[in-house]
Amino acid sequence: MLFGEHGRPVKSASRPLKQYYPDNGWVEHDAEEIWRATLACCRQVLKGIPVSKVAAIGVTNQRETTLIWDKKTGKPLHKAIVWQDRRTAERCAALEAKGWGKKIAAKTGLLLDPYFSATKLEWLLKHVKGAREKAARGEVLFGTMDCWMIWKLTGGRVHASDVSNASRTMLLNLKTLDWDRELLRLFGVPRAMLPDVRDSAGDFGSAEKKLFGAAIPILGVAGDQQAASIGQACFAPGDVKSTYGTGCFVLVNTADKITHSRNRLLSTALYRRGKTKQYAVEGSIFIAGAVVQWLRDALAIIPTAPASEAEAKRAKPSEGLYFVPAFTGLGAPYWNPNARGAILGLTRDSGRAEIIRAALDAVCYQTRDLLDAMAQDMRHAGLKRLTRLKMDGGMVANNWFCQRLADITGLAVERPVVTETTALGAAYLAGLGAGIFKDTKAIARHWALDRRFTPRMKKAERDRLYKGWRAAVARVL
Ligand code: ADP
Repeated sequence: MLFGEHGRPVKSASRPLKQYYPDNGWVEHDAEEIWRATLACCRQVLKGIPVSKVAAIGVTNQRETTLIWDKKTGKPLHKAIVWQDRRTAERCAALEAKGWGKKIAAKTGLLLDPYFSATKLEWLLKHVKGAREKAARGEVLFGTMDCWMIWKLTGGRVHASDVSNASRTMLLNLKTLDWDRELLRLFGVPRAMLPDVRDSAGDFGSAEKKLFGAAIPILGVAGDQQAASIGQACFAPGDVKSTYGTGCFVLVNTADKITHSRNRLLSTALYRRGKTKQYAVEGSIFIAGAVVQWLRDALAIIPTAPASEAEAKRAKPSEGLYFVPAFTGLGAPYWNPNARGAILGLTRDSGRAEIIRAALDAVCYQTRDLLDAMAQDMRHAGLKRLTRLKMDGGMVANNWFCQRLADITGLAVERPVVTETTALGAAYLAGLGAGIFKDTKAIARHWALDRRFTPRMKKAERDRLYKGWRAAVARVL
């Protein structure tokens, strides 16, 4: 995406990527394909635009996805292991049984789960022939997708990542924001293969002249959810955003303090710029927009995702009907990989519209699960109460869903003009680095409201409905 200095999108391009599922619960990507697709998109967007006008590149990416490549040839030694990949579940369980969970949470802010990069990297070093020996000789590099893009853009000159991405590897000490020696030893990772950890609005070298006709500096890098928080201008403690794409990710800014959750949420680095370090607490729901996809593709009861809105509007209230979309287990705050989905409370007059509505409701209830957990953590940390929720992602085009979210959470829900906040956040960071924005205050001034949804439901009703949701979840667990 190309953004103007006013923070509005100018042009964009996209390419689908092939998904590889080599085994049950395994998910891989071809890193060379990601690079080729990215390059093609950049060139498409720059067509007809003088490169000299481009101030800087910002990079944002799905986090945790793990790649190793040959330092000399630049060739990946294996496909990238994607964040969703569960192949190291057993290894995580074994580490948990040995008591590592607590220590890892204290050091990294993360839960011992295959989601994060460390056990994926360990798996690669163990299973790719010769990888461990080569890595020990300093001939292999590790990176998440930001790091790989930077390395490719700079023609192999820069091997670096930013704090927000590094904090998802489970190898970074969240306090020092540097690689943790004890964890490197635990996972058998030679330090020489790890990237330099830099500021999110920092110097990552320049994209080679031969790629776009002129060198373009790379000045901003952040993982997707942190980037979305920046795109939503969540710069003050207690500022919270919720992104509704395939899954849903809620992040709350906890300022320069690491807030360790008592409710199984994650602590993570939000960004670093010079002396300013910001942290966040994060909760994730695995299935958000994906449940709408399921209604469309598996049940085929809606032709398109947006058609869910009219159906939900015409549905009967159907009190007691709940859809728990635990297709791949439940994420925060339940963290149960074995739970599976269910529709509960069906009656003779439940139909298509009612099931669609229950599916959208589920995304609202799960958001409330996270917000309640967050509110407790924030109280403990002495941070101010959550009062409003900034939302973005594909699902927020659905006005019925937005209103329902306000009703179920009891918070004012705000939809910005630019809902592509992930890319916008990366552009803002690059703009900070390039001096287009003086500081985060200047960025915050660009945030513009499209529409605000205020709760219309009475508290008693909200609480009654939510109680029913908790009971439905309990049955699935
Ligand atoms: P991602 O970045 O994870 O691919 P997006 O932010 O592009 O996701 O959002 C796409 C998701 O939003 C899809 O899962 C789709 O089902 C859902 N979606 C898109 N439009 C609507 C809508 N009008 N109502 C409900 N869900 C929608």
